[in-house]
Parts: sequence; C-alpha cells; structure tokens
Amino acid sequence: MHFDSSRVKSDGKDKKVSLKKKQTLHFVYLGSMLELLNLIGAELKPAQDGHWLDQIEPATGRVTGRLPRSKKADVDEAYSAANEAFPIWSVTPIEHRAACLRNLAALIKQHSDVLAHAESQDNGKPISLAKSVDIPRAEQNLAYFASAIEQFSSEAHIPAGPSHINYTHRKPIGVVGCISPWNLPLYLFTWKIAPALAAGNCVIAKPSEITPVTAWMLSQWVLEAGFPPGVLNIVHGLGPEVGQAIVEHPAIKAISFTGGTATGAHIARTAGPMFKKMSLELGGKNPAILFADCDFEKALQTTIRSSFANQGQICLCSSRILIEDAIYEQFRDALVSKVKRMIPGDPMLSDTKMGAVVSASHRDKILGHIQAAQLEGATLLCGGHLAEAPNDRCEKGYFVQPTVFENAGPDCAINQEEVFGPVITLQRFHSESEALQLANSSNYGLACTIWTQDLGKAHRVAAGVESGIAWVNCWLVRDLRTPFGGVKASGVGREGGWSALQFFTEPQNVCVSLT
Ligand code: NAD
Repeated sequence: MHFDSSRVKSDGKDKKVSLKKKQTLHFVYLGSMLELLNLIGAELKPAQDGHWLDQIEPATGRVTGRLPRSKKADVDEAYSAANEAFPIWSVTPIEHRAACLRNLAALIKQHSDVLAHAESQDNGKPISLAKSVDIPRAEQNLAYFASAIEQFSSEAHIPAGPSHINYTHRKPIGVVGCISPWNLPLYLFTWKIAPALAAGNCVIAKPSEITPVTAWMLSQWVLEAGFPPGVLNIVHGLGPEVGQAIVEHPAIKAISFTGGTATGAHIARTAGPMFKKMSLELGGKNPAILFADCDFEKALQTTIRSSFANQGQICLCSSRILIEDAIYEQFRDALVSKVKRMIPGDPMLSDTKMGAVVSASHRDKILGHIQAAQLEGATLLCGGHLAEAPNDRCEKGYFVQPTVFENAGPDCAINQEEVFGPVITLQRFHSESEALQLANSSNYGLACTIWTQDLGKAHRVAAGVESGIAWVNCWLVRDLRTPFGGVKASGVGREGGWSALQFFTEPQNVCVSLT
C-alpha cells in the first residue's frame, strides 16, 4: 500500500513543518501476515537479538503476524536516540511542536478506516466501536494537546509592594517512558504520548504486546509528520522485559503508565526508589448507583452500555450495579431480558455490538471469576459460559456470554476483584447512606455513575463516593480538558488537560529581586 504524504500539511502555522518524505507503508491488513518493527531514531527495525512474539487475532485465534520481542538493549538504543534529540526538541518553538502533533492527527484521520480495521482485528472489539470511538479519539488526543500546549501557562506570585517577583518556569523533563494497555490500544497510546511530546519531552513508548498493530502503523508516520528522529521511539515486546527495562532505565525520568493495579504496584516499587515522576492509571470496580427516581429507560440503556461496551474491557465500565429497593426487581428483570438478547458477533461485521475478549488467557481468567462467584453462592441470572462462535471464521475465537449475577455480598470476590470482562453483579440498597457504603466497599476508586432526577442528592452522593470521576445521568462523556484518574487502588495522579501538561513538565520557581 502506498501512502502519498504530500496530501497532509501542517495547519499553516509553521510552514517549516512540512512532511519529510514519502513513505511506503509496510503493512497489509487482513489475509496476510504482518511483521511489526520498532521505531528507534529514524529507523524501523527488529529487536537487536532477533527474537519475535506472535500476534494473535482474538476473534479467530489465528496468528496474524509477529512483533519484535525487544529487551534492555533496544531500550538503551532508543534512549540514546531520544537523548540526542532532546536538546533540539525541548527548545523547538511551541507552534512547531504543535504543528507536528496536528500532522500526526491528520495522518490518523486520513487512515482512519485502515486503523479501525486493524484495531478491531487486533483487539476483538466491534469495528463500529473502533470507527466511532477508538480512532477518532486517537486523532483528537493529538489535536487537543497541540492546542493545549499553545494555551498552557504557568503562575506568577507577586506580593503587594513587591521587592521580589516569583514565577514558575515549567521545563520539559527529558526522556520519558509511556506504557499503555490493550483495551483501548491507539486511544490510550496517543493519550500518553501527545502531552509528553507537546511539552517538549522525548518519548520511549511501549504499546501492549497483545495489541501492538495500530501503534506500529503510527510509527511509520512519525517522521513524516515532522518529528525529528529520536523524539518519539516505539518499542514492542513483553511488559516484564522491555517494559521493565524502560521503568528501570536510570536516565528515563518519568513514567506514565496505564494498566493493571498489580503491574502499577510493581512499577511503583521499581521507579519510586529511583525518584522518578510517576502517573499510574490502574484498575477499577466501578459502581453504578440507581435511585428509584431515575429516568428508568435512560438508566437502563446506559447501564447496559456501561457494563458491556468493549466486552466490559474498559477501565470505566460499571461492574457493580447498585439498585434502590423500590425498583430492584423491575430494573433487574428489564436488564436481564435485554442482556439475554446480546449475542457476541464477528467483530469485523458492521452490525456487531459485542465482539471477542482479547486473548485466550483473558477468556480463561473471566471464566475463572464466573466459576468462583458461583462457588461463593452468587445467583447466575444470565450468561456464565463461553458464547457460540458467530460464524466459521470465528470458530476458534474467544467469545464470552454477557453475564449477570445477584445475591453476592459486597465482600465476595466477584464484588472485590476486577474481572475486566462482560460480568456484572446486582446489589440492592435501601437508603442513600447504604448506597454510599456499598459503593465505597471496594479497594478501587476510579469512576461511578449516579442515576437520580434529584441533583442535590446526586451532588451529595458524588461527593461521598471515593472515586476520581463521577458521572450523573450519563456515562463516558469525556471532555479532554478535565482531570482523569482514580483514587485508592485505581491509581496515583491525573491525566487530561493541564494535569497532563503539568505532569510532563518540571516546575522551577524563579525568584527575581526588583530592587
Ligand atoms: P497490564 O498491567 O498487564 O499491562 C499494561 C502495560 O504494562 C502493557 O504494555 C504491559 O506490557 C506493560 N507491563 C507489564 N508488566 C510490566 C512491567 N513489569 N514493567 C513495565 N511495563 C509492564 O494491563 P493490561 O492487561 O494490558 O490492561 C488491563 C488493565 O488496565 C485493567 O486492570 C484496566 O482496568 C487497566 N486500565 C486502566 C485504565 C485507567 O485509565 N485507569 C485505562 C485502561 C485500562
């Protein structure tokens, strides 16, 4: 497939940021094996020791390609490239950096259909979701942080009758590491690299080894978008190998990580004593709190979506549905009757609403949680098993039925452990205080939804829930300027808007005598 780079231009703010050269994209999608490569400096290359990992399509169980199994030596090489680029990139004018980000956003938009197919094939998510959410959002992340860095400012402190003035100088940190998970591959990859690059850092980024394809596609457009070689390096491979090498590297000064809580704890144990800056976006066990005075139909439709979108594999998905006594039976019966009609389909078909879970091991983990819940005495209302393959192509794919339990106490494993799959529990509450007690009876604290027509009550409940994000009468509405992140075992730090640009810059107070 040939790509005509001349069709993509910067937004005109800086004519010097033109596309560098025509690139031939080395990928084919569907039907043929992919060979992924690392981007280090100006080169696309395999791992130094020549080792590879298989790339598997979750909907079919088929090996679709291979990716470099990179190690410490590859990170060291990426670090050298990034460190060499940093003195130039860190002083490159903001409008020039922003233009590079906009160029990359434009390339994503131009290739959105190919990227959506690749994301769906790689992850098992419905192609409609990749087209409507994942790929547009990846483009928006880059475009948003291009604008945000142009508006970013820092503080000054001027006392009355001043003899001194203080101002905060925010400097790029240096070479930083960005590590992302498999559930929203290009969406979360760009959510991290965009603010890091906008702020003037050089980046070593690692996508999940389970869903590396769209990050690899992106790596072929980085130089073309105008980024100098070494500003963005993308290395592929296993978390405990290449990911660990990024975290352990003594000169990589900050780590932005999104993934599981256990991995986040391990990263914190490694990077903490090295005094690295860390942003950790981790797991969730999010409550949906439904009061009797809610808009029943809207709450029902949205709760089904918030529970099962992307097969329940979004960190913000609701997994504990708390329902006020007066509507418990009515809500349960309406929900279960709709969920029973949700049949996983071939992710590549445009009318599929629910696809495959991401891997065989993740499928088995989900089934393990379902079995454990039954052993703990939870009542299975629907689902609970592998789903039938939707067609011959998907005969060996990883499909799990959407599953609903009730009668599991708040301390049961199914209400405590993150399943990260299409599995929810229903619990009953009698009062606002009991709703809050149940909502907070988890170690996690990422997000919640609150359903009521009484905004005073919504505000009280939002204030009482231990979570970084609360949605009232809606779900997954995201304004990229807002702080994003969790409390308790759901993470440390905030991403989004100014929070991300503050994370990726080092503040220095400068005190100037006026006398
Ligand atoms: P994971 O923790 O297994 O892996 C995440 C990334 O970390 C991958 O790139 C992986 O290769 C890498 N990694 C693994 N071990 C590492 C190590 N020792 N050092 C450095 N890197 C390492 O998570 P996952 O299974 O890919 O993703 C699912 C998890 O991510 C869920 O728990 C989900 O809730 C969480 N998540 C959180 C958010 C959020 O914003 N809070 C968003 C999406 C997903």
